[in-house]
Amino acid sequence: MKLFQPYMAKIPSRYKREYINVICRENFTRMTVIAVLVAIAVPLIAVFLQTPGSADFNNSMGIALFALIFLPILCYFRMKTEQTSKFWIMTIQTLFLTGILTAGILLSLYEQSTLASSSSYFLAVFTIAAFITMPPMISLALLLISNIVFIMLLPQFQTLPVLISTLNINTLSMTAIAWILNQMVSRNKVKSFINEKIIMENNVELEKKNKELSELTMLDSMTNLLNHKNSLRRLKEEVDRAKRIEYPLSVAMVDLDNFKLVNDTYGHQIGDTVLIQVAQILSECCRTSDTIGRYGGEEFIIIMPDTNGRDASLLLNRIQSRIDETSFKEGIHVTVSCGISELNGESVHGILKSSDIMLYEAKKKGKNRVEVQLNKNKKSAVII
Ligand code: GH3
Ligand code: MG
Ligand code: MG
Repeated sequence: MKLFQPYMAKIPSRYKREYINVICRENFTRMTVIAVLVAIAVPLIAVFLQTPGSADFNNSMGIALFALIFLPILCYFRMKTEQTSKFWIMTIQTLFLTGILTAGILLSLYEQSTLASSSSYFLAVFTIAAFITMPPMISLALLLISNIVFIMLLPQFQTLPVLISTLNINTLSMTAIAWILNQMVSRNKVKSFINEKIIMENNVELEKKNKELSELTMLDSMTNLLNHKNSLRRLKEEVDRAKRIEYPLSVAMVDLDNFKLVNDTYGHQIGDTVLIQVAQILSECCRTSDTIGRYGGEEFIIIMPDTNGRDASLLLNRIQSRIDETSFKEGIHVTVSCGISELNGESVHGILKSSDIMLYEAKKKGKNRVEVQLNKNKKSAVII
């Protein structure tokens, strides 16, 4: 595996195994196609062009048999690439490629009696170079060793020295070109794999940013509560849900009393700080299933699913008391008035209107208090 290192170093380590899976599965697919072609074409050529029983004929049949034996093995490893260790992947692939190169060498050597060519060997070398992705050192070793074997065996099949040296020069130069071609193809694979991963990573990052952005546009930037628009959207969802599953739902409007006076006395900035602190108190007092929104300037909405008016009034009284007892920035004392309405089959608009009416009642009755509408007859009950 050390031979892999210089080549694999370009691939981020977290993607190395994925790269091996992708490339080796593709190699197995291409080797399967090569095996099918060899298993079909070589015997056909032998039957039509060679004499049965001759060495050529027997070689061709042997090569076809080799391809047939490898066919199921290649298919199996193609399906199981992800579960197979790198060692076995490399062993099977190297064995098959060695077989194909041996076939090319054998056919070329036996051709020498009729024509001084090495076309079968070239065919094998260039098929592998063009279609199989390999690390540079493995590719070099495979092609060079096969070339050396060819050169060493050639004198036994070709007697003319001038042809031997021509074939040696031809095969050596073609092996060099095939290796360069193989590395160009393989490096392009690495590059496109890495680019694909970079694009994927960027897309994930972009999606995350988009989500953050849409969350930001959902929230009120000052209090981090839901803004007006999204409070209404959530209220609609909760009203629909409460009607569907026939669960209670209460909605409260919380308005700061005489807040204009706070602004006029201490300034808008201090006023903002008080609003933020009130928002914090609301968040601390409510359940996680409740939704709190900044409905207007100094007005908040609390949507309480699975909560009837009586329970909602208990919560809002706790909130009203807590705010009443809190010393805000610069020792400011503020109070809130709350109007609660329990859903009674009305629309979003209806329940908002009822809560508003209750808030108005609370203001009218002296502020710093909670008014709740408990039933559909819209009778009000004062809870303080
Ligand atoms: P009431 O008890 O009747 O509700 O009296 P109020 O003074 O609270 O009500 P009013 O509607 O007269 O004034 C609301 C004030 O809330 C006026 C406005 O300046 C202030 N306000 C609204 N939004 C903000 C804000 O974002 N920051 C600050 N500091 N003040 C705000
Ligand atoms: Mg107010
Ligand atoms: Mg107001």
